[in-house]
Amino acid sequence: MKHAPLGYECPFCDIAAGLSGPNPNSAIVFADANLLAVIPLHYYGGIKGNCLVVPRIHYENALEIPDSLGNHFFSATRRLANAMLRALDCEGISTRQHNGPAGDQDVWHYHQHVIPRYYGDGLHAGHKGVYTTEERVELAARLRAELQ
Ligand SMILES: [Zn+2]
Repeated sequence: MKHAPLGYECPFCDIAAGLSGPNPNSAIVFADANLLAVIPLHYYGGIKGNCLVVPRIHYENALEIPDSLGNHFFSATRRLANAMLRALDCEGISTRQHNGPAGDQDVWHYHQHVIPRYYGDGLHAGHKGVYTTEERVELAARLRAELQ
């Protein structure tokens, strides 16, 4: 299942290529040899503090992800979830991941959303908002400070 257009300029590969470790002035929450976590451009349902977990190597979707990355995704998700609980005082965490246009995928590089949740937050009925750069940097710093 491939949907990236020919010559696709991948924004997540651009981010991965520019990494030399977490930059204290960036929206990167963490990066290691396999994955990075970043505050994305958008938030959903008015809920701020969501992250994307992204493999540093380009895979288009879940059908291409090697099994060997599975533990890295679980570990990164757990670290982020715990940091969100401490930094954002959220009451729950949701993850979601989209594959193909019918699955609402719109960036053609595998990524998993990790979203802080609150009772009655209306995530699924809410609008898509755009972060300011300052918000992204500030949220990343708050989450980075709570990573263990
Ligand atoms: Zn890519």
